[in-house]
Amino acid sequence: AAKRGATGFAWYSEAQEAARLGHLSLVSDLRTAVAGSQLQMWLQPKFALPGGQAVGAEALVRWQHPQRGFVSPAEFIPFAEQTGYISMVTQWMLQEALRTLAQWARTQPALSISVNISTRDLLDPQFCERLQNLLAQHQVDPSCLRLEIVESGLMEDPQTSVDVLHCLRGMGLELSIDDFGTGYSSMAYLQKLPVSELKIDRSFVDGLDHQSGSQRLVKTMIELGHGMGLMVTAEGVETEAEKATLIALGCDVMQGYLGSRPLHGAALQAWFDGLPEP
Ligand code: C2E
Ligand code: CA
Ligand code: CA
Ligand code: CA
Repeated sequence: AAKRGATGFAWYSEAQEAARLGHLSLVSDLRTAVAGSQLQMWLQPKFALPGGQAVGAEALVRWQHPQRGFVSPAEFIPFAEQTGYISMVTQWMLQEALRTLAQWARTQPALSISVNISTRDLLDPQFCERLQNLLAQHQVDPSCLRLEIVESGLMEDPQTSVDVLHCLRGMGLELSIDDFGTGYSSMAYLQKLPVSELKIDRSFVDGLDHQSGSQRLVKTMIELGHGMGLMVTAEGVETEAEKATLIALGCDVMQGYLGSRPLHGAALQAWFDGLPEP
């Protein structure tokens, strides 16, 4: 039965408790996952508009759990953040991205890989130094590595975030604002960030063809990005109509199922082998 707090509302139920315990074991499994080989890096290609040339890819973590099967990052990343295991996941993804970039550099040196950085990573005092060490280990042009930081995460500690972003930029990395439009940051604040890309959240891209309201919003975001000298990428592009609208609005890059799903293994290799010589 549900226990009741002083307010009279149920503050936990058996179902919630079971879910909590389930997540606890998930989190202890996460330690094993990083140490073993249960994590995978999938890559979703990004394409220039209007021409369609590949410009790089976003790295997305996948967890193949031995008992639970595939666990979605939407499910385990929040718990990895709460427990601090996120720093191991991020470190592993950065390593994979740098290893892949080193391979790509021989034939496609212009392609970049974007890695998602959580707020917790950003506020970790050791993060910059660890990344510096990783870069020293892998002989990769640092400007081929992009870090994506969600707009809402920046606002948790705006001043520290600005300082850390400047440190990362100083190392030659490229920086992107992820899920733009969902974080309520001010223009004055955005202007202080040494970023070069703005990624419009896919909620704004959805149905862009027939909703003139969202079309005006996306137009404004693209103009804002261009006004600040940034490259603007649209996420979650799924239809030709969305793509055509984005081209008409002057968007620079698209990412989404229309261009490609996230790829791994043989499918990723086939995509890479099919790229034209630069
Ligand atoms: P995100 O950074 O916004 O990543 C884009 C998500 O949208 C990915 O989901 C991707 O598979 C999905 N997506 C791409 N194109 C389309 C499309 O056309 N339509 C739709 N409906 N979805 C599309 P995924 O891989 O499940 O990742 C979910 C979220 O988990 C990511 O959102 C990101 O916030 C987080 N995440 C994933 N990998 C990592 C990681 O390595 N580190 C951290 N810190 N977070 C990660
Ligand atoms: Ca992202
Ligand atoms: Ca995003
Ligand atoms: Ca959509």
